[in-house]
Amino acid sequence: MKTKFVFITGGVLSSLGKGLSAAAIGAVMEARGLKVINVKMDPYLNVDPGTMSPYQHGEVFVTEDGAETDLDLGHYERFVARPLHQRNSFTAGKVYLNVIERERKGDYLGSTVQVIPHVTDEIKRLMELATGKENGHVDLAIIEIGGTVGDIESLPFIEAIRQMRADKGAENVLYIHVTLVPYIKAAGELKTKPTQHSVKELLSVGIQPDILLCRSEKPLTDELRQKIAAFCNVGKDDVISAHDVDNIYKLPLVFHEQDLDGRILKKLGGNWGVQSPQLDRWKQYVDRAEHPPHTVRVAVVGKYVHLTDTYKSLNEALTHGGIANDSRVELKYVDSEELTASNVGSHLGGVDAVLIPGGFGTRGIEGKIHAIRYARENQVPFFGICLGMQLAVVEFLRDVGGLTDANSSEFASPEHPTSNPVIHLMESQAGVTTKGGTMRLGRYPCRLAEGSTARRIYGQPEIFERHRHRYEVNPRYHKLLEEKGMRISGLSPKGDLVEMIELPSHPYFVGCQFHPEFKSRPLTPHPLFSAFLRAALERQVAREKSRPAEEISA
Ligand code: GLN
Repeated sequence: MKTKFVFITGGVLSSLGKGLSAAAIGAVMEARGLKVINVKMDPYLNVDPGTMSPYQHGEVFVTEDGAETDLDLGHYERFVARPLHQRNSFTAGKVYLNVIERERKGDYLGSTVQVIPHVTDEIKRLMELATGKENGHVDLAIIEIGGTVGDIESLPFIEAIRQMRADKGAENVLYIHVTLVPYIKAAGELKTKPTQHSVKELLSVGIQPDILLCRSEKPLTDELRQKIAAFCNVGKDDVISAHDVDNIYKLPLVFHEQDLDGRILKKLGGNWGVQSPQLDRWKQYVDRAEHPPHTVRVAVVGKYVHLTDTYKSLNEALTHGGIANDSRVELKYVDSEELTASNVGSHLGGVDAVLIPGGFGTRGIEGKIHAIRYARENQVPFFGICLGMQLAVVEFLRDVGGLTDANSSEFASPEHPTSNPVIHLMESQAGVTTKGGTMRLGRYPCRLAEGSTARRIYGQPEIFERHRHRYEVNPRYHKLLEEKGMRISGLSPKGDLVEMIELPSHPYFVGCQFHPEFKSRPLTPHPLFSAFLRAALERQVAREKSRPAEEISA
């Protein structure tokens, strides 16, 4: 059977959760037994999001093959089983770069190079690559267009998907438009006008949506669905209520309750002989997450703490690991720039565990080191990811190794020189000046030391995890680390790169150079997160047993 296409556009405003909707639709269709692939096309001009500030754009998600992608790919991978690749997400920057490079090579010699057809053709070529045979068999490709309909930048993408209906046949292409139905307090009503205008905008560029996903605070009433249907030229059953949910993993269930999957199949030419959706595993997860008996408090000490999108996969992985331990995870974001040796105890005193995530740049580094020292000395479960692991090595070698000026060469400067660059640039990175796709990226193997905590947690001698960093533990210091009691529990197969560390003399102190959060799924939580949250829960239980009540609530 030929691949069929669902295109997802957004209207009214950004941050509507279009990516999540695309992912959840993928989950329901996959539960129907279809081979689904999700793709993201972003209209901005960065060639990839790796060079954008996480303040602005949220997390950079990394795929197995080392693509630095939009965080929506993280949603797709968490909802749909198929691992994604570089080709499954592309930006306008990439499209234009390809077209202009081709023009310079003389490939279009003689013709005027234009948005239509050259840019739109390149978009279609990249869509083909993203969904074609390189990906194995695909029944259904769900392609999301970033941004909002009406943005200047998104026009070539909208034009390309408009053409797709003629190219592929009407029975193979479906348009879903995600809009907002705001609740206006003063009127005490949900309002449909923004949706009407947004559909009009889409019509003006030649696309009549087949299904509307209406984001709202509350479920849409039948009456409202009827009204939207009449104004927007769709059937009432094609107006789907995508109201707020307290747990994003309920979305596949919410959509199926309204038979969104059935509507999609019907519009794409019958039910293709597919099964009714097997959503039991989602139901079980949601049930288990509903009222967990425990709550653990985890401090996330970082720089971008005010924006939770910056740590999207991390937050999800913590949630998954918590549910695996029947615990709700309450996160306490601590701005590392505010931490000092004297106030760290008051910030971290009440938490059950401390996590230092990945990061770049000098700001807030010393605060993170204070947090690590606090966790190490006070037996608080600690998990350091990427930069978090690097700083755990710095802290340990400063305090226990006696190298008071130990630092990462990322943070050393003429004003703050170091004679002990315990974290340094790999030779292969030393000459790299271009940005974007130039770090150690994607999947690398790691061997786990016999008898280590890491080996016990993973239950296997070799693992594969995803990376995104430039700096590494300097091999000159491997021996000192081990002599002083920090165990190198994971190494690259050649033995030159430190991938994991741990402290055997601590209840739980683990660091990894890679980013395990990219591989955690609600239905298969990552073992390192499950183990970390188990340690947090154990500490909480132990503290409750050994302390007077008034201290525990402090
Ligand atoms: N800044 C560090 C490096 O480049 C860590 C990166 C990260 O935490 N992702 O190695």
